[in-house]
Amino acid sequence: MSEDTRRIGALEAGGTKMVMAVCTPSGEVIEREEIPTEGPVETMARVGEWFAARDIDALGVGAFGPTGVNPAAPTFGHILETPKTAWKHFDMLGALKEHVDVPVGYDTDVNVACLGEQVYGCAQGRDSVVYITIGTGIGAGVMIGGKLVHGMLHPEAGHVLLAKRDNDPGESACPYHDRCFEGLAAGPAIEKRWGAKGYELAERDEVWDLESDYIAEALVGYVMTYSPQKIILGGGVMKQAQLFPLVREKFAKMINGYIVAPELEDLDSYISEAGCGGDQGILGCVALALQAQ
Ligand code: ADP
Ligand code: ZN
Repeated sequence: MSEDTRRIGALEAGGTKMVMAVCTPSGEVIEREEIPTEGPVETMARVGEWFAARDIDALGVGAFGPTGVNPAAPTFGHILETPKTAWKHFDMLGALKEHVDVPVGYDTDVNVACLGEQVYGCAQGRDSVVYITIGTGIGAGVMIGGKLVHGMLHPEAGHVLLAKRDNDPGESACPYHDRCFEGLAAGPAIEKRWGAKGYELAERDEVWDLESDYIAEALVGYVMTYSPQKIILGGGVMKQAQLFPLVREKFAKMINGYIVAPELEDLDSYISEAGCGGDQGILGCVALALQAQ
């Protein structure tokens, strides 16, 4: 078989930075560059020009949300209602297509990361996977039966409501909800509650006890509703590796034996860190671009 020499463009379009890469179809990164996310017109012009100069055969985009992911809708590829007002209703995909004339795949950043783990990372061989990032916000990408879940818009599983703990001394950091997962457990929630950033609180057991409680409760909800074969936890907050055993222990207690499946017999593997070492977003873009061709 001859070598596959296609050059695949990958764009992780984040709220704070744009990560552009050119990769091989097997997921090797040939070139990568990051620029800050500023105004939409100038930022997307820079991104588009970067790809236009690199002779790519297809492009995959993982965008911050909420964003239009239904190819049949007029809002496909647009940023929707966002607190980043300059980006509200901006046609991101249209702006890219002014510069690149190749097949483009487009989905949310978290769905794309989920796909990256399923094709290149620790969820290979599974077709139902939930990928959660716990960072500045909380988002979840969901694949069921090999398809990334969209629906009305796309899942917003970071905003599921949880039971606020009596021993929680904090207030929700979400402007919309007083007890959603993101409002109670994302990086800014930790900082608001304890008055210091997560990485400064590593030694404070009560911080991670409460944090793991909320994470475990959210995971139980995802397992009951989506029935994934694997759950992957990423994002800055999960760099606190002590969270993993705490989450698994609390998750098992909350499930309380109700679900019996081989996957749940090995929670170390069932609830795991990302296998792509931070490149799950970029590699998911590659997989998406290959599907778009
Ligand atoms: P983003 O979500 O903006 O893409 P990250 O996933 O890095 O970026 O998440 C940033 C958040 O994670 C911040 O709130 C930060 O305080 C928190 N964070 C980053 N590193 C750590 C760490 N080592 N331990 C705990 N929290 C961290
Ligand atoms: Zn919320």
